[in-house]
Amino acid sequence: MNFLDILPALKAQMPALRGRLIANQPLAELTWFRVGGPAQVLFMPEDEQDLSHFLSQLPPDVPITVIGLGSNLIVRDGGVPGVVIRLGRGFGDIAVEEGSRIRAGTAVPDVKVARAAQEAAIAGLSFLRGIPGAIGGALRMNGGAYGGETKDVLVSARGVDRGGRIGTFTNANMHYTYRHCGAPEDVIFTEAIFQGAPGDPAIIGAEMDKITESREATQPIKSRTGGSTFKNPPGRKAWQLIDTAGCRGLRVGAAQVSELHCNFLINQGGASAADIETLGETVRARVRETSGVDLEWEIKRIGVAGR
Ligand SMILES: Cc1cc2nc3c(=O)[nH]c(=O)nc-3n(C[C@H](O)[C@H](O)[C@H](O)COP(=O)(O)OP(=O)(O)OC[C@H]3O[C@@H](n4cnc5c(N)ncnc54)[C@H](O)[C@@H]3O)c2cc1C
Repeated sequence: MNFLDILPALKAQMPALRGRLIANQPLAELTWFRVGGPAQVLFMPEDEQDLSHFLSQLPPDVPITVIGLGSNLIVRDGGVPGVVIRLGRGFGDIAVEEGSRIRAGTAVPDVKVARAAQEAAIAGLSFLRGIPGAIGGALRMNGGAYGGETKDVLVSARGVDRGGRIGTFTNANMHYTYRHCGAPEDVIFTEAIFQGAPGDPAIIGAEMDKITESREATQPIKSRTGGSTFKNPPGRKAWQLIDTAGCRGLRVGAAQVSELHCNFLINQGGASAADIETLGETVRARVRETSGVDLEWEIKRIGVAGR
């Protein structure tokens, strides 16, 4: 079922807009899980100015949701009302700067930043090799892997708020904790500056290869998944709690708890978003019963249930 087409009204209101607007754009193909309904409107801004103009002109009652590469997302079956924003080419620049720094647009995949750092003999960013999202998602999630976290290497980020105002956020302004960013929720990040340290490309390359091997051995990275489903509770491992609750391999429809890494949920083909979310909630309930621990979702769920 489609949403009301609000495109003609939006276009009439913003004749100077340069980015692409599409009504009722299916989102499943833009996520790793490959599930879920359409965006009422998908907007792909041309650049930061275009994004700022759009946000400043958009009626305040239209909800906004930003997505990156969809590697940490469940889009619900009824789709996402309002405007979904996806950053593309205009946010894809990457540059090596003085003092072992890298400046990257937020549509740049994390792995590309890791590679650019290696080529420029900059150490400290190889953990980004292990995260399959783009920089915007890493900033919002405080993405981390193999001993490194976004908060350890971020100097500052630029972003645009719901009113279209462009601002800079220092590392401290991001109020980072584990897999959480405390910067205002409406901010859409557009660019980041990362600080590394001088290093040896061969050693950095070996580190990245180790990360690749370890991920292939321990995570179902070729599956339709959203990565770690739940945050690790303080001092505990989510996967162990899930295993102890007997949930390894558990199924709801075509959604399954991974046999390889039981904090990963998998769409085995043909699962709905509701199957995956119900499976996640079943796991939470079983863990609560067996360990008394309330697991917190790390995966972001957006949109409305099937209509
Ligand atoms: C196989 C697999 C392995 C994974 N391993 C790891 C891992 O080791 N460590 C780890 O931390 N994560 C891991 N993840 C999860 C995921 O890759 C990260 O959370 C990643 O940072 C999400 O980036 P994304 O571009 O895909 O964002 P999305 O999934 O599209 O969005 C995630 C969140 O970020 C927000 N967001 C995206 N772009 C912006 C922006 N420009 N401005 C503001 N907010 C934005 C979205 O609104 C949403 O809330 C894994 C996922 C998979 C599928």
